[in-house]
Amino acid sequence: MSGHLAVIGLGPGDVRHLTPEADEALKDTDNREERARAAAALHDAVQGTRVAIVSGGDPGVFAMAAAVCEEIEHGPEIFRALDVTIVPGVTAMLAVAARIGAPLGHDFCALSLSDNLKPWPLIERRLDAAAGAGFVIALYNPVSQSRPWQFARAMERLAGVLPPATPVVVGRAVGRADEQVTVTTLDRASSAAADMATLVIVGSRETRLVPRAGRTPLVYTPRSAAVVSA
Ligand code: SAH
Repeated sequence: MSGHLAVIGLGPGDVRHLTPEADEALKDTDNREERARAAAALHDAVQGTRVAIVSGGDPGVFAMAAAVCEEIEHGPEIFRALDVTIVPGVTAMLAVAARIGAPLGHDFCALSLSDNLKPWPLIERRLDAAAGAGFVIALYNPVSQSRPWQFARAMERLAGVLPPATPVVVGRAVGRADEQVTVTTLDRASSAAADMATLVIVGSRETRLVPRAGRTPLVYTPRSAAVVSA
């Protein structure tokens, strides 16, 4: 008897961002569960049932798919016999980027600002390196109740490397009824309202705004980069 575990990405909130594959995988399970702990789902799957773990956005981006892999690596041997399917979803940075233009049009990276699973000095080192290398940076988990200061500190850190006028996109609850996407600059960003449902995209030196009469400006990063920026 081989159980089955599906880890399904639901997209950022709008049902239209749910992929047909994810939709199908949801319908296909007898036992729909959202669990904080991957181990619990794996233990259920080992019993021979079909289990689904749902995850906002993409399950492989700062989410359940990696937790499941960790449990399989460190858990009992029987976990390795399970049929595991990871169903991708639209991750938050793609949904936010699409709302505003094409800020991820050139090289970019994604970083979680949560220091629950890594030390803060490592986050600062990565911020310096990413900004210094000219990547646009998508910041997940900018703030939480237990981590009130990380976002402002990260903005300060980036301001040490990037010009004050660097465009910053703040996307809140994208795809949901209370969605809010605003554009600011690096020197003003730390006072922007960010919460647990916010994703922040910090531009590179190449990222620019295209003003449009009567419309919100487009924020984009051109596809080509000519200079080796510091
Ligand atoms: N697996 C998720 C990310 C989980 S980490 C994904 O792929 O999107 C949780 C963080 O994701 C939040 O703190 C926020 O930064 C971001 N996020 C998730 N949903 C969002 C949404 N609808 N709008 C903006 N940011 C979102």
